Amino acid sequence: AYSSGTKKVTLIPGDGIGPEISAAVQKIFTAANVPIEWEAVDVTPVRGPDGKFGIPQAAIDSVNTNKIGLKGPLMTPVGKGHRSLNLALRKEFNLYANVRPCRSLEGYKTLYDDVDVVTIRENTEGEYSGIEHEIVDGVVQSIKLITEEASKRVAEYAFQYAKNNNRRKVTVVHKANIMRMSDGLFLRCVRDMAQKFPEIQFEEKYLDTVCLNMVQNPKKYDVLVMPNLYGDILSDMCAGLVGGLGLTPSGNMGLNGALFESVHGTAPDIAGKDLANPTALLLSAVMMLRHMELNSYADKIERAAFETIKESKYLTGDLGGRAKCSEFTNEICAKL
Ligand code: NAD
Repeated sequence: AYSSGTKKVTLIPGDGIGPEISAAVQKIFTAANVPIEWEAVDVTPVRGPDGKFGIPQAAIDSVNTNKIGLKGPLMTPVGKGHRSLNLALRKEFNLYANVRPCRSLEGYKTLYDDVDVVTIRENTEGEYSGIEHEIVDGVVQSIKLITEEASKRVAEYAFQYAKNNNRRKVTVVHKANIMRMSDGLFLRCVRDMAQKFPEIQFEEKYLDTVCLNMVQNPKKYDVLVMPNLYGDILSDMCAGLVGGLGLTPSGNMGLNGALFESVHGTAPDIAGKDLANPTALLLSAVMMLRHMELNSYADKIERAAFETIKESKYLTGDLGGRAKCSEFTNEICAKL
């Protein structure tokens, strides 16, 4: 559906370094002649009829129409009456799976130089369903909600992702030995889905085992799928293995569209100084292109970015270099 003509993509530039790194991505896309048209929207909360602040309707309409978006980091205001905008977006667009590829980059030395894993996290329920209460003074209860529907759809997404991206194996990460019913159901749903994808290898691993193996030999893993809390933690751990959040892209898959974003925040300490590294947002945009089946553009941009980092002539401060965001960006454009 995406392959013919120019497709509109919603762009949420975000706060802090967001506008700078968004501009960098736009410039690189122009240099690569990517056949998309950006529709920039502002998500600064506006007061609704109920007196509560929320995302402006125009921004919601834009994502609902285009069904695909790229998002910079958003500042979460501290104080009463403000909901996290990120959470609001997740709810509004039913973003059920969070996908994070973590790959070692040549030219940036970390503990291992051969990490290449993708974490796929259920994003709507599990331990984060937000159902908590106090039974009596000093005793609280928190409910972990697992449904067959949500487990099946994230499982299906994981196998489909593995297939579309030429991955060989999917590992389901769980604690069904302890959480017999909840993780048991999740595990069963993934196991059933595995049968529909015989070309993809499938394995079941306990979360603790995965943590141990991941830091000792990350090569053991390929695509991992898991409930919400485990995914939250394990995906950051994997990001740490390849050099931190500044390089890590992500995608949020929804029932009715998808939103891609860098994993880092607004970096207020370097905002407005042309010092930010746009790589995480750029690689998120590359994921977006693959999702839109614009793979040749994705490959071309990714190659130019990796090459620029490998050469190490124009590295930003976070990678130990002295280049400005604009210099790094221009080098990628020159390669394109
Ligand atoms: P942060 O990620 O913004 O910054 C942590 C450190 O990493 C800072 O030193 C920063 O300079 C550096 N850094 C981050 N991204 C970088 C980049 N692209 N290039 C170079 N250096 C980079 O985390 P924080 O300071 O905890 O959060 C700041 C704000 O961002 C908060 O308001 C927080 O709520 C928000 N936040 C938003 C998101 C999101 O929108 N997805 C995620 C995390 C934090």
